[in-house]
Amino acid sequence: EITLQQVVKKFGEKNVLKEISLTIERGEFLVIVGKSGSGKSTLLRLTAGLDQPSSGTIQFDGLSPKEAKTNVRMMYQDSRLLPWKKVIQNVGIGLAGDWETKAAHTLEQVGLSDFKDQWPSNLSGGQQQRVALARALVNNPDLLLFDEPLSALDALTRLDMQNLIEQLWLEKGFTAMLVTHDVQEAVKLGDRIILIEDGVVALDIRNDAKRPRGFDDEQLTKLEKQI
Ligand code: ATP
Ligand code: MG
Repeated sequence: EITLQQVVKKFGEKNVLKEISLTIERGEFLVIVGKSGSGKSTLLRLTAGLDQPSSGTIQFDGLSPKEAKTNVRMMYQDSRLLPWKKVIQNVGIGLAGDWETKAAHTLEQVGLSDFKDQWPSNLSGGQQQRVALARALVNNPDLLLFDEPLSALDALTRLDMQNLIEQLWLEKGFTAMLVTHDVQEAVKLGDRIILIEDGVVALDIRNDAKRPRGFDDEQLTKLEKQI
């Protein structure tokens, strides 16, 4: 369980996150939406421990991020692959032990076995994001943070990737936080959707049904107007 308590983030005079209090259950798929500049990426960075809140606390099962040793990985809009390393080496970065077997297995899970000895630049944008997903997954993270991972992809590739992310999440049970500007994507993937507006959680909705998603239409319409 991840608990954010009265998290505030200021950059100079600018109060980006005013007071975010939020509990995210283990294994939950939380989608974060909000206008550009509303602080979505900031919220992910704070949760990942890449930056510190100005005040307030973020805890994992009641422990500070350092104590909890939560395995957190992030995935971005661009793949951030190292161009001088082959696909399989990119996936295996930082792994101990038999990194090659682990990396090959994870590449298989994202459907890219045939490309493991390629250079990243020989892959399409969608394939590069698959590699980025494999790299994020290879060490069995507890928490995956997705910052608009599919925004740069064409519509069909995006649907493919949504299905892949959903399938892997169902299989592996990691906790997910995903930022998107696409309501369809939010509804497809989210157990729960929050809207960040004026530095606070302005809307927090859950699907009450299991898949397929059962969000309240009226609330979704409200959300659609905000992003
Ligand atoms: P987008 O949808 O465009 O990605 P976002 O919701 O992710 O937007 P953030 O990137 O979190 O927004 O930024 C929120 C605000 O905080 C912006 O006004 C941004 O300029 C500011 N900001 C973010 N990081 C910094 C920083 N390191 N220093 C100063 N200001 C920052
Ligand atoms: Mg952002």
